[in-house]
Amino acid sequence: MDSERRRDFIREIVRRDVERGTYGGRVVTRWPPEPNGYPHIGHAKSIVLNFGIAEEFGGRCHLRFDDTNPEGESMEYVEAIMRDVRWLGYDWGEHLYFASDYFEQLYAYAEALIRAGKAYVCSLSLEQIRASRGSVTEPGTPSPYRERSVEENLDLFRRMRAGEFPDGAHVLRAKIDMASPNMLLRDPLLYRIRHKAHYRRGTEWCIYPMYDFAHCLSDAIEGVTHSICTLEFENNRALYDWILENTPGIEQPRPHQYEFARLDLSYTVMSKRKLKALVEAGVVSGWDDPRMPTLAGLRRRGVRPEAIRAFCERIGVTNVNSTVDMALFEHTIREDLNHEAPRLMAVARPLKVVLENWPEGESQWIDAPLWPRDVPREGTRAVPFGRELWIERTDFRERPPEGWRRLAPGREVRLRYAYVIRCEGLERDPETGEVTALRCRYLPETRGGRNPEGRTVEGTIHWVSCAHAQPAELQLVDRLFSVPDPDAELAAGRQLTELVHPGSLEVVTGWVEPRVAELAPGERVQFERLGYFYAAPEQHRPGERLVFVRIVPLKDRWAAREQERAREALERARAEKAREKEQQRRRTQQAARRPEELPAPSPELARARERFMARWGLGAREAALLTREDETAALFEASVEAGAPAEAAARWILNEVAGLRRQLEVCRPLAPEALARLIGLVEAGRIGGPAAKRVLATMLETGEDPEAIVEREGLERIDDAGALEAQLEAIWAAHP
Ligand code: ATP
Ligand code: MG
Repeated sequence: MDSERRRDFIREIVRRDVERGTYGGRVVTRWPPEPNGYPHIGHAKSIVLNFGIAEEFGGRCHLRFDDTNPEGESMEYVEAIMRDVRWLGYDWGEHLYFASDYFEQLYAYAEALIRAGKAYVCSLSLEQIRASRGSVTEPGTPSPYRERSVEENLDLFRRMRAGEFPDGAHVLRAKIDMASPNMLLRDPLLYRIRHKAHYRRGTEWCIYPMYDFAHCLSDAIEGVTHSICTLEFENNRALYDWILENTPGIEQPRPHQYEFARLDLSYTVMSKRKLKALVEAGVVSGWDDPRMPTLAGLRRRGVRPEAIRAFCERIGVTNVNSTVDMALFEHTIREDLNHEAPRLMAVARPLKVVLENWPEGESQWIDAPLWPRDVPREGTRAVPFGRELWIERTDFRERPPEGWRRLAPGREVRLRYAYVIRCEGLERDPETGEVTALRCRYLPETRGGRNPEGRTVEGTIHWVSCAHAQPAELQLVDRLFSVPDPDAELAAGRQLTELVHPGSLEVVTGWVEPRVAELAPGERVQFERLGYFYAAPEQHRPGERLVFVRIVPLKDRWAAREQERAREALERARAEKAREKEQQRRRTQQAARRPEELPAPSPELARARERFMARWGLGAREAALLTREDETAALFEASVEAGAPAEAAARWILNEVAGLRRQLEVCRPLAPEALARLIGLVEAGRIGGPAAKRVLATMLETGEDPEAIVEREGLERIDDAGALEAQLEAIWAAHP
């Protein structure tokens, strides 16, 4: 891509600084991973941006491990990160740094802040600190330790470092502004005590700096000019600036922070915590499982770094978060491989074809291009053809749907590079009835794409000659998740493992043409119509065992069309249903005008109508409405017998139950006892009207008991103002 024409708001800022000479023309960026997991495609966006800017403006980009947290960090991750950044094509040269190497210096900065009266040791518990921070609408309360003297602060801080206190006994806080509208400036934590060994520093330290303190100072220590991070850190920028402006001894001009939109991809998750959970649950074989969105996984799947870089350039850099469609990433991968991977033939799910008019034991070798017409490259290979062939089982349908262009009884199809064949009969497994082979004829005059007068054959399928085929393991990798937005499903309470697409890795033994056996480990190939494949470097051994991982499927036009049709059919069905409901509604409306004037549909219902008025005291209208069908009448009577007041039961059944039944797609039978209990809850004032309607809807959908639903969804009325306030506080604290 032409870097001259690449423009985005971050590059504009850098360009402006270079032109104004803000940093004497210097451009220093950094990529600061925490070594607590493997880098993923989202990290690639940040790597490409940071290293790309440095390259473009003649600057440099540091690789800095942001390893100030003793939890979860390890050397394995450090190594994986270095390997993946190099693989992506970037080099930090001698600029490899670890924030944990700065511990001594960071500590000195903290003492300097204390001496300047801008930091203090606070001995409140974390819980108390949180509680005294205030809310969006209310200022916080200053800590009782806020006015400790410099001497006392220094003494306590030194003793914190010396290990005299247990975890949580004290923290170091910046003294900023407990009333700041930016909650992050209400005396944020700078250091905390944590008696835990660090993967590089061992037990040397038992106090660790917080991200907001360590990060900006690390930038300053390294002379970074543009500190680029994702949008979630927008509010942290004020703190970044405060620390660099208030800590004595920071060189000017100091670094500045800029935020851009993180990459979010559909059909996957990007949080290292969630990816780690997949690894630990054994859902995937490891961080480098070919289905993982990690760079190691993409590499093992055969995606080239060029494709990842091209993708990052393509999505661009903006300051508005959005989700990128996985299809765009897959498209970029295909585009990258189009000119890299020769075309060969393989059959993944074989079905045998026997050409009855082809002489037994004879074969023919056909010259076929390795590159299709739109790739300007030369080269052919010889493909053997014979009496028995493998074709893809999915290319045959015994009862073809409308528009089917492949093989079916009595139909013709072209075999790629070879002949047109016609299906004249089937062979079946006598036990299961499954089709085991197709009896076909080939049409001799159609060889090599020739279409004799008057013959148009629309479909072309791939094939492999049985006599020459070699078996190959094909690892058919697909999207890891079956839902477009796994994070949203997780937020709605579903489990990560139940979102995993069960068919995301299918391993089949297929048949390949002879030329495939010559592919070396690490080579990429397009198996026509199946997708791009990668000869697995650790498993593929020509002459012994052929193993291919699918990098990405080709866009299957047929599947796309079938999906389109399914969607259309669904929409038609929905519209039909909506029309029906509307008619039904009109009918009921008409009948409802004077229901008591209509006769009851049966003698039993007529008796029920009388009984409802005489025994339960209902009006003529309600009684008539409740006796238009057996089910409603029975529900009413049984719920009244179960203890519901008659008038309330009638109202609930006529207004709510009937309405919900019309709205809900699926509806379970409603137990009269459950309905009576729900009405009881409302009458007793334990739940409100709207809540009760929600409970009823859930009862109809799931068949659960009303009490269980009320309990689970927390619908019970809270009369106690104190309890209500506590809940609101908790919500504010969780969502500052
Ligand atoms: P986690 O996934 O554990 O929540 P993280 O992805 O932020 O954390 P880091 O190691 O801190 O992990 O990330 C290193 C750098 O990569 C950070 O500067 C961060 O801004 C950037 N980064 C992380 N995720 C993305 C993403 N999805 N898109 C773009 N940049 C990202
Ligand atoms: Mg991070």
